[in-house]
Amino acid sequence: MLGPPGAGKGTQAERLAQTRGLPRISTGDILREAVQEGTPLGAVAKANMDAGRLVSDDVMIGIVQDRLDRDDARCGFVLDGFPRTVEQASALDRMVDGRGPLVVLDVVVPEDVLVRRLATRRICGKCGANAAVQWKNKCEKCGGRLVTRVDDGDDILRERLKVYQRQSQPLVEYYSVRNTFRSIDGNQPADVVTAAVDAAVNAAASAGGVTL
Ligand SMILES: [Zn+2]
Repeated sequence: MLGPPGAGKGTQAERLAQTRGLPRISTGDILREAVQEGTPLGAVAKANMDAGRLVSDDVMIGIVQDRLDRDDARCGFVLDGFPRTVEQASALDRMVDGRGPLVVLDVVVPEDVLVRRLATRRICGKCGANAAVQWKNKCEKCGGRLVTRVDDGDDILRERLKVYQRQSQPLVEYYSVRNTFRSIDGNQPADVVTAAVDAAVNAAASAGGVTL
């Protein structure tokens, strides 16, 4: 599942995973796990991050590969936050080769709407989780205090979105020629988006030769 920050991709990935009984694999989560468990790739990733660098494609690909090899992902999975680059995308193609069609959804939301959403978004000050609307003052994952990102002004948010746009454009071009690619209008109420995601997954999977 692709989409810029603020598009609601995480929520939709979570819902899709739940209704299909599949694991939601978010790169943020598995990166944190690999670092905590001290796996060889996790150690390299930690060294990268400690030095203030981005985790390299090779390491990220290795960590995702390890995760997709686990038992619970055998019948499918929902990937959130991966791939980010064309190199990662072509590695993913090799990983899923022979495992059924790779359905790619791109959640699209206009920039002005994203800026508005991001400016008012609450996150957990302790674990960084995005707060759901119904959460009161505490993070329901770790109990941490919720904060708004007051330090992120509109200019900073727009710059972040431009960086995302620049990086993801080649990725969208890489996938959009496939019959298993669907673009989703993310500028609708979350439940409407969820229904659109569900329908798109069925349609794209059947275009890829599988009936879900
Ligand atoms: Zn938390």
